[in-house]
This record gives sequence, structure tokens and C-alpha cells, in this order.
Amino acid sequence: MTHSSASRQPVALGLVGLGTIARNQHLPSLAAVPAFRLAAIASRNATLDTLPGYPDIDALLAGEPGIAAVSLCTPPQGRFEQAASAIRAGRHVMLEKPPGASVSEVEALAAMARAQGVTLFATWHSRAAAAVEEARRLLANRKISRVEITWKEDVRHWHPGQEWIWQPGGLGVFDPGINALSVVTRILPSALHPVSAVLDVPENRQAPIAARLSMVTAEGAPVEAEFDWRQTGPQTWDIRVESDGPEILLRMGGAELHVAGEKIIAAADEEYRRLYARFAELIATGTSDVDLSPLQLVADAFLLAERRTVAPFHDPALPG
Ligand code: NAP
Repeated sequence: MTHSSASRQPVALGLVGLGTIARNQHLPSLAAVPAFRLAAIASRNATLDTLPGYPDIDALLAGEPGIAAVSLCTPPQGRFEQAASAIRAGRHVMLEKPPGASVSEVEALAAMARAQGVTLFATWHSRAAAAVEEARRLLANRKISRVEITWKEDVRHWHPGQEWIWQPGGLGVFDPGINALSVVTRILPSALHPVSAVLDVPENRQAPIAARLSMVTAEGAPVEAEFDWRQTGPQTWDIRVESDGPEILLRMGGAELHVAGEKIIAAADEEYRRLYARFAELIATGTSDVDLSPLQLVADAFLLAERRTVAPFHDPALPG
């Protein structure tokens, strides 16, 4: 189902899962991107006054034959079944990050999308941050010598009450950490792979609250990552790249770029508008965009991991 450039009517889209990211980013971005018309939502709990609502994606797909695309804002666990239903129904699909609960399930979705001739877009919102493409351009011909990732934030502030994030498939601290991995896999001129990982798992949880991940580039340069969800006070989302050129420092998750200590880009957050513009372009050109390298790094980190049990984590947003 290609959306030809001759017919530039907005693509009717259904949004699935009306949680934090749907409300904070998807709804305002869809309102600002003319290429899409939000036509209906699927939610187990929520409704929007102005739009038809359905209890789940299968009801939405059955009730809205005019919807050509769906955007899945649900947790990664269970997203495969939702995406597979949409692809089977001939709809284009945009996936929140991480694109699934495993690498192989998203590969299966990509094959299904190819067979059905629909677009599958596995988004990495941090790659759409303002300074990422410029960092990639500056590093394109550099010899990388060392990379340091520091991703430290307060889970109590950013993920209150989100039980899924601690369950298998929810990734724990890699849920934000995969954003850093999506950026390094975009800006570095060669592939990287993990060599060791230490995961700190609270004794009452199934996923890590902190992790150290040591990787190397294809040329052997170390890429050291520290992820921590226990950070109070200032929050840090930094990537520092040393090479045979000036030092590159991406801050604020890729919104700011410092070159040799001088801030050269600091821009407002337009990540999700860019994602929807890209989704429209993919649909119009009949193509897909599914890069699983960040999820593969996390999967490899779990394969290699030394696990340590740490103090229990109590979510202040939940009883008990
Ligand atoms: P959330 O606040 O927990 O919302 C997820 C929504 O999905 C729920 O409100 C629920 O919506 C629906 N849902 C369907 N099945 C569910 C289940 N078994 N458990 C819980 N919710 C279920 O999560 P979120 O923060 O929006 O995250 C959703 C996805 O976006 C994740 O993959 C996350 O990594 C990604 N993301 C989040 C952020 C962020 O800052 N929060 C940023 C970027 C990306 P209904 O009640 O409407 O069915």
C-alpha cells in the first residue's frame, strides 16, 4: 500500500496505547505534522473526546478500514502481536523504541512487512535529536580512539508506576540506555560489539537498575557505557567521542553538541515530529526502516552479563 506523492492527502493513522509517551509526544507531534491525520485510538482504559476509541488494536483494525497506518505506543512486550495484526491487515506500522521484546521477533515483523508490501518503521527517537546527524558527519572520516557514554537518570521521576519496565522484555535501565546505543550506532563510523557487561539487579526485580557495558569498535577502540537509574539531582545523557579530530560531546541525549569544548548546537526537542515526517516519507516511497543494532547490543549485553544483586527498589508511585 504505497502512498503516492501525487495524492498528498494526510494518511489516516490509529494510535495504540495512550500512556506517557503517547500523550507527551505522539499526540502533539501528530497535531503538528500535516502528513498524518489521527483518526482513532485503541486503549484499554483511556478515551479521547474527539476521536473514535477501541479497546484494542484488533477492534480498531476491524472498525476503521480507512486507517492506513498505526503507531504502537505500548510496552515492548506484546507489541509483536499488535504489529503482526496490523501488517496482516495491510497497514503500515510505526514502532516505539525498543521495537520489540527480542531481536528475532522484530526480524519476523520486517519479513512480514516485506511480504505484505507495507512499511515497518522501527523508530529510535534519540537518533532524531537535533545534533546527532551533525555529530555523525563530523565523525565520518575520523579514527576513533575512545567513547564514553554516561546515561544517568532517576527512574522514580521518569517511570513512576511502570511495572512492565521491570519485567522480562522490559529492559530495566536499558529502556533509556538503548537511546544512547541508538545514537552511538548512528554516529560512529564502524560497528561495535560488547565484550563485557555487569548488570545490577534489585533483589525484588527482574531487570537491571544499573549497568556497565564495555564495547569495542571494529578497529578496537573502547566504548565504555555507564547506565544508572538511581541518579538524583542533575540528570546526565552524555556521549563523549575522542578521535584524531576535535573532541565531540553530545549532551542532553543528542540535543546539544559541543566540539572541542565549544557548544555549537543546542536546539528545541523536535524528535517526534521528525519521526512522523520520516514515517510519511517511508510510506510514500514504499520502504521500511528497521535497524536492530541497538537492540542487538542490549541482547548481547544480557548474554554476556555478570549479574549482581543489589538493594531492593521500591516505586513510590505504587502501594507497598
Ligand atoms: P506507559 O506510560 O506505561 O504507557 C504504555 C501504555 O501502553 C499504557 O498506558 C497502556 O495504554 C498500554 N498498554 C498496553 N498493554 C500494556 C501492558 N501490558 N502494560 C502496560 N501498558 C500497556 O509507557 P510509556 O512510557 O508511554 O512507554 C511506552 C513505550 O514508549 C515504551 O517502549 C518506551 O520505551 C517508549 N518510550 C517512552 C518514553 C518515556 O519517556 N516514557 C520515551 C520514549 C519512548 P492504554 O491504557 O491506553 O491501553
